[in-house]
Amino acid sequence: MIRLNNIHKSYVMGNSSLHVLKGIDLHIEQGDFVSIMGSSGSGKSTLLNILGMLDNYDNGSYHLSGNLIANMSEKKAAKLRNELVGFVFQSFNLISFKNAMENVALPLYYKGVPRKTRNLIAMEYLEKLGLKDWANHMPNEMSGGQKQRVAIARALISKPKIILADEPTGALDSTTSYEVMDILREINDDGITVIIVTHEHDIAAMTSQIIRLNDGRIHEIIRNGELKQFQKSYIHGLETA
Ligand code: ADP
Ligand code: MG
Repeated sequence: MIRLNNIHKSYVMGNSSLHVLKGIDLHIEQGDFVSIMGSSGSGKSTLLNILGMLDNYDNGSYHLSGNLIANMSEKKAAKLRNELVGFVFQSFNLISFKNAMENVALPLYYKGVPRKTRNLIAMEYLEKLGLKDWANHMPNEMSGGQKQRVAIARALISKPKIILADEPTGALDSTTSYEVMDILREINDDGITVIIVTHEHDIAAMTSQIIRLNDGRIHEIIRNGELKQFQKSYIHGLETA
């Protein structure tokens, strides 16, 4: 589904250049549930933005669902993005003057779906996320967890194959964070690839694969089996402590 080979990315500002990704090789299968960890500035968001075709890379190759993502026109990138990817952000990125239903319906507006139809579909997604009664509320009337659920509904409404989430729990307390992670796990159970950026270990431990970035390189990948082992010994340690 996702295949990165030797991806490099620099940001050029004036006459200085910052080499942010220094040769990323990565293979993510459809249905994987992945977290990307690493200290601030290690390139996590840059990597996620490249995966979501929001940014270009300089060298290497990126294949997404068999398409080589390189030198694409913005039109073609936007088309693939709309077909394949849903985005979730730390700060929710809801439109403040639209209610929950209209926010969720927005991607369908851009696809030209008539208002009645798109609002009906938006209601289905709000109901799935337990927010039916909040459809007419504005973002500033909702809690952080509710806003993130609206944002997730908006990401799901175009039936993406991948959800990309940059610190989706970064602005939430831990109880609400776990609720959002439960939702992401359910989405993943439906076969959607979920990739999150987080710097919280307990959040990362809820995914099935942890990719650790360090200074623009993959430092280590901890996969499902090892992760279970890691969690087991961690919990065992707690019980016997
Ligand atoms: P992370 O998400 O791991 O904190 P980022 O990928 O956001 O890291 O950023 C990696 C480095 O690139 C940081 O030093 C950051 O300041 C820099 N950077 C990120 N985006 C840009 C940009 N658009 N222009 C210039 N520098 C950037
Ligand atoms: Mg970041």
